[in-house]
Amino acid sequence: MPTSTSSSEPATAPRAEPAPAGPVVRSRLRVRGIVQGVGFRPFVYRLARREGLRGWVLNDGDGVLIEAAGAEAALAGFVRALRLECPPAARIEAVAELERARVAELPAAFVIRESARHGDATTLISPDLAVCDACLAELFDPSDPRYRYPYINCTHCGPRYSIVTALPYDRARTTMAAFPMCAHCETQYADPDDRRFHAQPVACPTCGPAYRLLGPEGRDLACPDPVAAAAQRLARGEILAVKGIGGYHLACDARDARAVAALRRRKVRKEKPFALMARDVDAVRAVAAPGPAELEALRSPARPIVLLSKRAAGLDARLLHALAPDNADIGVMLPYAPLHHLLFAAGAPELLVMTSANRSSEPIAYRDEEALRTLTGLADAFLVGERPIARRIDDSVVAVLGGTPTVIRRARGYAPAPVVSDPRFAATPPVLALGAGLKNSITLAVAGQAFVSQHLGDLDNLDAAMAFEETVRDLGAMYGVDPRGARVVHDLHPGYRSSRFARALGAPTLAVQHHRAHVASVLAEHGAWDARVLGLAFDGAGLGDDGTVWGGEAFLGSLTEGLARVAHLRPAWLPGGDAAARRPQQAAAGFLLAQADDAWEALLPARIVAVSRAVTASPGACPSTTSIGRLFDAAAGLLGFDRAMTFEGQAAMWLEALARNGARRDDPGYPLPFDGATWDHRTLLGALLRDVHRGVGAERCAWRVHAGIATGVVAAAERLAGAHGVGVVVLSGGVWQNRLLHELGVAGLRGCGLEPWWNLAVSPGDGGISLGQAALAAVAAEDGWREGHVSRDRM
Ligand SMILES: [Zn+2]
Ligand SMILES: [Zn+2]
Repeated sequence: MPTSTSSSEPATAPRAEPAPAGPVVRSRLRVRGIVQGVGFRPFVYRLARREGLRGWVLNDGDGVLIEAAGAEAALAGFVRALRLECPPAARIEAVAELERARVAELPAAFVIRESARHGDATTLISPDLAVCDACLAELFDPSDPRYRYPYINCTHCGPRYSIVTALPYDRARTTMAAFPMCAHCETQYADPDDRRFHAQPVACPTCGPAYRLLGPEGRDLACPDPVAAAAQRLARGEILAVKGIGGYHLACDARDARAVAALRRRKVRKEKPFALMARDVDAVRAVAAPGPAELEALRSPARPIVLLSKRAAGLDARLLHALAPDNADIGVMLPYAPLHHLLFAAGAPELLVMTSANRSSEPIAYRDEEALRTLTGLADAFLVGERPIARRIDDSVVAVLGGTPTVIRRARGYAPAPVVSDPRFAATPPVLALGAGLKNSITLAVAGQAFVSQHLGDLDNLDAAMAFEETVRDLGAMYGVDPRGARVVHDLHPGYRSSRFARALGAPTLAVQHHRAHVASVLAEHGAWDARVLGLAFDGAGLGDDGTVWGGEAFLGSLTEGLARVAHLRPAWLPGGDAAARRPQQAAAGFLLAQADDAWEALLPARIVAVSRAVTASPGACPSTTSIGRLFDAAAGLLGFDRAMTFEGQAAMWLEALARNGARRDDPGYPLPFDGATWDHRTLLGALLRDVHRGVGAERCAWRVHAGIATGVVAAAERLAGAHGVGVVVLSGGVWQNRLLHELGVAGLRGCGLEPWWNLAVSPGDGGISLGQAALAAVAAEDGWREGHVSRDRM
């Protein structure tokens, strides 16, 4: 960031105010938080005038600076109102009084000053916000100059992070820099009483970007009304690439089985669920019955995809299956960009598939040339907007877990807001945590805040790997941190791209064990640095201290004292290593090799049994694992999931869907005994095998697997918590995204007087790892940094 060249030209004409009677004071206030690009300065201006104060307000690299002078009582009222009446999209982290003095003379008025540039940019850039009601009303008002204008926005809504190129946030440092304002927009932009005062992306049909409709080969179709033409094509069953806020979507009519099948075929996405966009809440009800917390999440300004239980009596069951095969949930979002509202108003089907535009597992396409290149042959037409997107940001995903919305994928609408403010994140040099391998995110801890990036994807994918490196640079530039001058944290696994990248930076590095990072992410979110807890980190795979694959771990301790592993799943074989993570039947063989009885062999293909026997017979060739994710896979393999998975977590979702259909609350499930240090899966799988041989239905069996694991885990937690005198149990790791397991686990823990904590603002999956790494690094001792890792039972 360039250093200070502050300009103090008044941006508003001084307006004379009557001077207050009696003694006056002058106070200089620093406001930190999400206070730029959200209408904060005009709000301060109006408030100051209401209270009869004089002085100024300005944006700088640290947030908002205010100098207000007037009667003491008025000043006190002003400070109170700052928090109470704060604009909807703003978030105040702190108001600090830097100076206070008695003054004899008052300035002539209260003014808004131009932005000052500053050395340390720690001000917060707002996430992208859904179009607000006032703008929506204008969008459909034929007498408004922005009638049906797809880029309408104001200080309360619109794009932010997706258009910012540098801080402080003003138009010249956004992708709107190329569109000079017309006189009308300029007047609104300059008027502190206008809703668009300093709304950086303000634009209108006269001066702003527009949308065009391109044919399948990228030729401009020169439609007089591209949005209406696109809506008609969608209604006819075509697949359209639609440029949105953080990238392109592929859209088609969700009720049109042929269109959905064509999209799956072209996108090479055989089974992974598609997200839907519903015109309104009534349209959502065709596929799901959202509860109050889910409705609130759907309508929140972030407008995430919300995972909802599929409605049995909703849309045709076959159609629902095609949209989200073998899944109990369906992901639905409401329109958030003005363009989406225009498409629905112009006759687009009320339920659209809206899936990130890419091939298979690549990240969402966001540059026009890239979209045209990679989506040719995939889309029947392209609805392309002229406003450039500064960085790719996927749709966020939220699930209501235990009655509380939990961010499963943190991206548009949430990133890059900080998730934790704490002085421990103020150390110099700042901490840069690079996450793990899959579903990666990064965290930058600087100036007392932990900023978690948007979801970046699986780093095995080249585009995601590039997005990862871009984001390291991007977050660094935004907050004035050179990654080479930071302290860098990575996963214990040396082979992850993020770990290799960390070592290549040449900065001091620290390796943090995967599952401790999961537990730490929850503790950081709860601001619980010293709280001693029992942490249950359950996921698919992460490298353990002993070099084996972990994933069913219990830890005891705190962030500051460290987390000691106190229990785990009994190790099982993983015949074929990573291949067993993709093939549930192979995972099943790996777990069942420890069974005394060989009757299980009849359930699995002879080839898999033979290969598993052979590889486990030669020590060293076959990794062992304590992964509970693999245990769920193994159960799925035994209950009929006989193919390779096409995306992570697929078999577990399949099993969860069966279990939710077969729920029998009075059935405690298969026993999962705990001996004080290990959970023994042999008993559980043995009972499952007996049921399978007896011909008990798969749904019933799947329920018994879930109920049994939940019961076994809760009983162990009660025993461990009691023995060690802790009252809080932390749940983290991708396995806890299983909504049924989460519900049973939380209810069970509460039932025995324990307090369950889980992730809320970052993902329980690997997207939350970087926050946990940053928290553990923030309290790591100096010798840890010197050696690159800390003593094993700490991290
Ligand atoms: Zn608005
Ligand atoms: Zn204009």
